Order: sequence, then C-alpha cells, then structure tokens
Amino acid sequence: MKLYNSASRKKEDFVPNHPDIVKMYTCGPTVYHYAHIGNLRSYIMEDVLEKHLRYVGYNVKRVMNITDVGHLTSDADEGEDKMLKGAKRENKSVMDIAKFYTDAFFADCAKLNIKTPDVVEPATNCIDEYIKIITRLMDTGYAYFAGGNVYFDTSKLEKYYIFNDFNADDLDVGVREGVEEDTNKRNKNDFVLWFTKSKFEDQALKWDSPWGVGYPGWHIECSGISMKHLGEDLDIHCGGIDNAFPHHTNEIAQSESYLGHKWCSYWMHVMHLNTNSGKMSKSKGEFLTVKLLEDKGYDPLAYRLFCLQSHYRKSLVFSWENLDNAQGTYLKLINRIAALKPAGEAIDEEAFKALKDKFVAALDNDLNTSLAVTALYDVLKYKTNDDTKLAVIADFDRVLSLNLIMKAELKREELKKQAVSGNAEFTVISESGEADASVEELLKARAAAKKAKNFAEADRIRDELKAAGIEVTDIPNGAKWKRL
Ligand code: AMP
Ligand code: ZN
Repeated sequence: MKLYNSASRKKEDFVPNHPDIVKMYTCGPTVYHYAHIGNLRSYIMEDVLEKHLRYVGYNVKRVMNITDVGHLTSDADEGEDKMLKGAKRENKSVMDIAKFYTDAFFADCAKLNIKTPDVVEPATNCIDEYIKIITRLMDTGYAYFAGGNVYFDTSKLEKYYIFNDFNADDLDVGVREGVEEDTNKRNKNDFVLWFTKSKFEDQALKWDSPWGVGYPGWHIECSGISMKHLGEDLDIHCGGIDNAFPHHTNEIAQSESYLGHKWCSYWMHVMHLNTNSGKMSKSKGEFLTVKLLEDKGYDPLAYRLFCLQSHYRKSLVFSWENLDNAQGTYLKLINRIAALKPAGEAIDEEAFKALKDKFVAALDNDLNTSLAVTALYDVLKYKTNDDTKLAVIADFDRVLSLNLIMKAELKREELKKQAVSGNAEFTVISESGEADASVEELLKARAAAKKAKNFAEADRIRDELKAAGIEVTDIPNGAKWKRL
C-alpha cells in the first residue's frame, strides 16, 4: 500500500515496523461539545484507513484519546480550558460534560459506521504517564520550569518544524486578539507540559505533581497515551490537518526527546471540510452535527458516501446541495443493489478476483476512496451472476461501511410488501424501448379497473390493445407490452 506521509511530503510504500501488528494512533475529540461533521470527516477517513489495512490482512491495534482536560481555546496554550468553557456554558461539572459529549461522539460514530478503536483512553486516566515523561524531559534539559508551569524548550531541538518549512519568525502560533501572550516562554514555540499556575483559578481537575498541583498540557496527552498502549514506536498517527501544527509537531518534539529515537513512521492528515463561508468550527457557535442532518431527513450514511466520494487530501466543501446529490446517489445505489436477485448460484471466483483487485488497487493508492466507489459501480455492470455481485458488494462494504446489503434487503422487503398491498407504483415497460403514451395510459387504466374489480373493463381494454396489434404480459407491479 502507498500512503502519503505528511512528514516526508511524499507518497511512500507502507511498511510497518513489526510484521505482526500495525500500531495506529488517532487524536480523539475534545469532549466539550458535539462533534461537527467536519471533525467526523476526519474520523470517517481514518476509519477507512483502519478497515482497509485489516481488509488486506494486517493486524491493527488502534488507540484513541479522549481529550477531557488541558486543551485550551488557543492551541498554543492560551485562553480558557475548553472543558471548563463547556461546563460553564451548560452549568454542569466538567466530568458531566465529558461523559455526555463522549457518549454523544460515539453515538454519532455508530450512525456513520465508524468503528470504535481498540483502546479509547480519556486523558484524565493517564496522569502518571505524563509525569513520567515530563520528569525525564526536565532531567535531560528539554524542559524548564517558569512562572509556575513546566515548558518544553524547543530551542534544544535540531529540527522542530516537521510538517512545514516555516520560519519561526513567520509564525504567530495561535496568538489571537484579546489573548495575552505567555511571557514565561523562553522561545515563541515553547509549549506547556504541565500547568500549575492557571489564569483560571476555577480549573476543576487538578492533580499532584513534582511541580505542584496542576494539570497536563494537551500535547503531552497523546504522547503519553500512545506510549502507554503502543510502546515506544508507532506506525501511523492520524488527525485533521489543523492538528499538524502545533499539536503533532509538539507531540514529536516531546516524544522523540523523551525516547531518544524516532517515534512515528507515517503521519496521515485529513484536510478540512469547509462551508462556503470557511472552516467549520465548534467555537463559532452554530455548527453542523449528525443530528441536524437527521432532523433534515438525511441518512448519516449519505454523508459517509459524500466523504468517500472525494480524496482525504483535498479540502471538501459542504453544501446542502452537495449532500442532496450524495443522498440521491446513495438511494439509487441501494435500489440498483436491491434489483439484484440472489438465486443460490455458485460464486464466479474469477469475476470476484478481478473486481476485488480493482477495489484494492484504488485504496492501496493512498486511499483513493472515490475510485473505490467507482469500483462498486463496476460490480453492478460486470457480466457475472447476481450472487457473485452481491458477494463482492458485501466484501467491499467491509471497508466502505455503507450498509449496502442490509439496506438493499430492506428495499426488497418494502417492494414485496407494496406488491402484496397493491400500493406499489405501477410500471409500464415497453419491450422494444418504443415510447407510446396512449398504450401506457390504457395499461394504467386497465390496472385501475382490475384494482376496482371491474374485470369486464379490464378485459375490454386488453381486447382493444389486442385489436391494435399489441400484446400485454403482466409482471409484478406492472405490465410489459410489444407490437405483434
Ligand atoms: P477536536 O475535537 O477539536 O480536538 O477535533 C477532532 C478532530 O477533528 C481532529 O482530528 C481535528 O483535526 C479534526 N477537525 C477539526 N475541524 C475539522 C474540519 N473542519 N474538517 C475535518 N477535520 C476537522
Ligand atoms: Zn493528539
């Protein structure tokens, strides 16, 4: 498989560090509010990566954190703790907010068929890990204590910027209007490993540490949780593109300084979902959630398909019109699969392999999900039996996770019920493809007469058509006709 590595800015062959396992880490949500569908775009594409790796035979262990402490409104350690902000907004405790939005996040993931990672770890569970790492960083001179907080000293690194070639002077990391710059920092990009002096005295969660009672910085959480569950090396680290700097850059700085060797081999970043007015953000107040999509009548899996139709390394513009198109495509796809009739025939192994090879090739090429969706349409057109087509579609859906087989079965059931109740829409099929509105009208009138048990009228219409040289054959929910 080839995977684009943000650290090398190249598509590389994916070679895991260990033959028996792929170690994958994902930055989890900050649980102070609902996830917006932009966040969920990242989780959908990461889910596809994990499922594809499993599909082609890798044994994957995937770990995700839940950020329930330490993430300030500015990624550069300034502003208020997001959790505290959420708690104040809703007049609840930080713990209550964390529980509520963690549950809400996994409920949204379930609706989008995003698999729960093997390990999900709240940041507040791993304080000892962070203290262990920070202690060594202090002992080895990578960290310093100033103004009550412990900072990482970025000047100690040979190379700090990993994902971009920024010049330090070009960057004003996260400094926003109305947010005071932290004068304790020796260098502009130094970041907090451990806070004891918070500007916000009402910080709810605090722990004892060698540097005083306080709480961890956001970046140290991911290093600590990853090392706790995956050890000293990592194959793939994922996140949305906004995490690349400063979050992932800082994760690398502290992890490699602590370990004394390279930490993670591949960095996968998902570009943003934007609206016409710009980046989607939780702090902007109103934002798009899965619930809003459902309230407006959309199937969350239509949103999943919308995401799969474009490449994760391209930013994606969300509009209701785009989602309408995705929903229409999704429903048509289900209808076409529902029209396949399982007949207990043997699987055509040659066809299965040819179709699967194309699908795997698409995803092996840096997760080209839009080509993988095209490969699904190829199945529908392929010259083979319907049992084989259904088996291939079920197989692809292990990665795509669009509930294709289940929804198609429901559709078939619905059509059957309509046929029994007589409520199905009556279809007229011209066997030659010739369109004739008057024939169509007569056939519909005949169906209406039959429904009203006016068999004499139904027979009269049949005779009229016969006299005009037209032969009629009844089919379920309709009739087909041809000229004799
Ligand atoms: P947060 O809950 O803010 O920590 O973000 C959760 C994940 O969503 C992170 O991986 C972010 O990088 C990612 N993310 C944030 N905004 C967007 C967006 N508009 N589109 C795609 N991913 C995003
Ligand atoms: Zn992280």
